[in-house]
Amino acid sequence: MALKVIQFLVLDDNYNYLLVDEDTGKSAVVDPSVALPTMRVLQENDVKLDYIFHTHHHYDHVDGNPPLLKTFPDVKVVGPKDPENRFPNISIELDEGEVFELGNTKFELMVLPGHTISHCAYYSKENKVVFCGDVLFSLGCGKIFEGSYETMYNSLQRIAGLPDDTQIYCAHEYTIDNAAFAMTVEPDNPELHARLAQAEELQDQGIPTVPSLVGEEKKANPFLRCFSDEIRTRLDAKDATDVEIFEKLRRKKDNFKA
Ligand SMILES: [Zn+2]
Repeated sequence: MALKVIQFLVLDDNYNYLLVDEDTGKSAVVDPSVALPTMRVLQENDVKLDYIFHTHHHYDHVDGNPPLLKTFPDVKVVGPKDPENRFPNISIELDEGEVFELGNTKFELMVLPGHTISHCAYYSKENKVVFCGDVLFSLGCGKIFEGSYETMYNSLQRIAGLPDDTQIYCAHEYTIDNAAFAMTVEPDNPELHARLAQAEELQDQGIPTVPSLVGEEKKANPFLRCFSDEIRTRLDAKDATDVEIFEKLRRKKDNFKA
């Protein structure tokens, strides 16, 4: 059940992940944006690719799929059921709560709509990792393209409900930009200051700020902190519901320029 996670940056700021179940050598790449970096990482690590996992159908998460399938025709494509069949070459469609076994590593599929209607995450409880695409980012969250604010809020709450020591492997390096926005809505949160300082230090050294932990996000990510008195005061919405606060935050972020 030991899982090796090899993280690599592609395009401008996308993270792709090569997952290797260490007992069996079975492997999967999560959301290959383009094919060549995956091929290089496979070669460098002497890994044969078995699966592609998709979290959602956006181009920067699936465009590596067709060329990888051309090179490795035996690779199986895993993803959630999508009403519009937008995942190229999909061969294994999973439902909410269904378990997929990558060798001896079990991944539970969580359907988390909002960014897209069929967006999903792959959660390994034993390994304390979740691959959540563009739902929750370090100190931020994805844009809402195919759902209501409430839908997205509920999806984020499901990630927040995982154990605090779960590592969140999101799909983009956005932490510092997200922190700049978070600072405008909760500047008195010392946890947020600490996370920003840590992110700046890591980025100065060329080190990814991802993954972060569920417990850390709950303390500093404004989109998981709709209950915060400070955020509510700054939004001038003390009596709003959590979903209403979430909507205000998301709209504000949509118009935010760092
Ligand atoms: Zn996306």
